Amino acid sequence: MNIDSVIGRLVRYFNDDMLRFSGAPGYTPLPEPDTGRKYLLYLHVPYCHVLCPFCSFHRVQFKEAPARRYLEYLRDECDLVSDMGYDFDELYFGGGTPTVIPGLLYDLIEALKARHGIRSVSVETNPDDLGKAGIAMLANAGVTRLSVGVQSFDDELLKQMQRYDKYGSGADIRRAISDAAGCFETLNIDMIFNFPDQTEASLRRDLEILTGELGVDQVSYYPLMNVDNAEGTMEKAIGRVEYSRERRFYEIIAETMLAAGYTRNSSWCFSRKAGMFDEYIVDREQYVGLGSGSFSYLGGTLYSSTFSIGDYGRMVDRGQTGTVFSQPLTERDQRRYYLLMELFGGRLDKRQADDRFGGRFERGLWRELGALQLIGAVRDRGAYLELTERGHYLWVVMMREFFSGVNRLRNKMRHTNQADTMAAKAGE
Ligand code: SF4
Repeated sequence: MNIDSVIGRLVRYFNDDMLRFSGAPGYTPLPEPDTGRKYLLYLHVPYCHVLCPFCSFHRVQFKEAPARRYLEYLRDECDLVSDMGYDFDELYFGGGTPTVIPGLLYDLIEALKARHGIRSVSVETNPDDLGKAGIAMLANAGVTRLSVGVQSFDDELLKQMQRYDKYGSGADIRRAISDAAGCFETLNIDMIFNFPDQTEASLRRDLEILTGELGVDQVSYYPLMNVDNAEGTMEKAIGRVEYSRERRFYEIIAETMLAAGYTRNSSWCFSRKAGMFDEYIVDREQYVGLGSGSFSYLGGTLYSSTFSIGDYGRMVDRGQTGTVFSQPLTERDQRRYYLLMELFGGRLDKRQADDRFGGRFERGLWRELGALQLIGAVRDRGAYLELTERGHYLWVVMMREFFSGVNRLRNKMRHTNQADTMAAKAGE
């Protein structure tokens, strides 16, 4: 077993311990906000036109009427937390596909802007989901970053992903991206590497399109992650994830992006200019998540909202947020989480870390930091710690495992909610 897989296993072990949310779900109020603090608000919209087989996010098949109702509940939930005193300066709409009903998304952004001094708005979408009118609408609403889920321009891979029929061929996607170019401060493209049938030549073609033909502002290149589900839909559609080529593929991506003049915002996000991070949890340590299936991290405690959309609506109707679980992190886990996220962004400022933890940050993690320096992943620059080139790939492995842990948690929450809803129905 090589060091990459040892590190991956260790992160998996720590994750599963940290992200456990035990006990029965029940309304769990969010804490009072810190006075004067501005938070990032994540809003989850779980509807999608296509349920891609590699995807482990909380998503359900789009139907107009329930999606409309859901977006109204989301707006009510935003009012609830605003009334509690939470103040937001950044919005991040993720999913699912937040743009399934662009008009309602527009109204929600406008409503939040009317109550808060919002300085940036990030929205995820799919190619051609919006059309030119939808793009103009979001630009008018003040969206600063549009993130388009492309995954690959390779037609054969798009067919395997079951995205070809809905979102078009590689050529169609390229046209849709050109239409959105220049409409937002940052146009981000989400890509995936290490598909079982992806070749080096196909990866290099995708990179050439991104950096040459399209010259996009930002590219987030995620490693393919295993999706555990009982039906095995991912394995049937695209094959089994195998990690032996992952490092080589990552090296090709990093070399190509850096040579084309992009800088690395995080180990897997490359930008032409200073833009928002691809991961809001890296950008801001504390955040509020609203909507079914969202997570919040506030004051050292993780919160999860219900994964049952029906329960979510009923809770908001009762004047509650959808949060049903909380999990306080130990001081040590908070430090580990901080280390993981800060170094994912490339460097950790020691003074900031000391201020955050009220004392010497490094003392609490001497074993972890010693091991990372020993294997050549982290370099001590005096005032800060930074990732080496080798460290960037190790961080891809660690973040892959971190998100796989979140995916396992999502699966567990979906099952918990199903069991809970079934039990409630049986008792009616
Ligand atoms: S990859 Fe995007 S479009 Fe596909 S199911 Fe997941 S969230 Fe929906």
